[in-house]
Amino acid sequence: SVVPDYLREALSDVEPDTSGEPAGYIPELAAADPDRLGAVFATTDGEVYGAGDIDTEFTIQSISKPFTYALALADRGFGPVLAKVGVEPSGEAFNQISLESDTGRPYNPMINAGAITVHALAGPPELTPVERVERVVEGLSAFAGRRLTMDEAVCASELEHAHRNLAIAHMLRSHDILTEDPRSVVDGYTRQCSVLVTTRDLAVMAATLANRGINPLSGERVIPEPVVRQVLSVMSTCGMYDAAGDWATQVGIPAKSGVAGGLIGALPGQIGIATFSPRLDRHGNSVRGVSLFERFSADMGLHVMEVP
Ligand code: GLN
Repeated sequence: SVVPDYLREALSDVEPDTSGEPAGYIPELAAADPDRLGAVFATTDGEVYGAGDIDTEFTIQSISKPFTYALALADRGFGPVLAKVGVEPSGEAFNQISLESDTGRPYNPMINAGAITVHALAGPPELTPVERVERVVEGLSAFAGRRLTMDEAVCASELEHAHRNLAIAHMLRSHDILTEDPRSVVDGYTRQCSVLVTTRDLAVMAATLANRGINPLSGERVIPEPVVRQVLSVMSTCGMYDAAGDWATQVGIPAKSGVAGGLIGALPGQIGIATFSPRLDRHGNSVRGVSLFERFSADMGLHVMEVP
């Protein structure tokens, strides 16, 4: 196949760009090698092509948000989830401390306020916090098609500095959006963000969204089709935070970034794409990941608003 050659060429073109900085607010993340670079394509018919650092593990961080949103929608149904978390782009940073003024809901599930709330909605209501984390890890693993583990060091490091997420969770508790101890929800959410994935895993997870909720490698149905539509819609409007508009015009693929440097895109019926490069722009999105996606979209005509 010519695809690996194409990917290698794309990686070498973006490699000289060392602008941006790895996330600094989670000390353990700042220790990661900033030069790592990888890209993987996973098609809906189960082909996987990659180049660069495709089997290096890093923490999933905010890329867990669309998948946990999917699990909550599948486990609880749309009504209970939408009652607590909206679907409006906030146009704000991922960790902005803000809620809808009339309803008290977080604007959307891709910013931290929404994702912390969504974590508490994963699994049936009777689960303990520990069981809920297990439900999330098991669900993320089904998307990836292999059993995923957690980076305890990154998790502990983030929890030590989780003041902002705790402030958000306490605010959510004061509005009765959260109805349990905010500290245990932030603990579970941080564990969710600390799940270890490779670029290959992320591409397969994205391909599962692109493939109507069926993992194209394992054949397992992970989530129902209506949930896929909801998740991809929210990714396309909110997945890149306050850069979502630039992304929608320049790349035009439903996407999600994470502060460890991962980035995914899912093109319905076609392909899941993942890139990994830890240096981030001022929005918290991977600099070289964004460049790679711009190139993939232009070279292959992947923009969803373009007639193929
Ligand atoms: N765990 C990180 C946080 O809550 C995730 C943020 C991100 O990846 N954008 O701050």
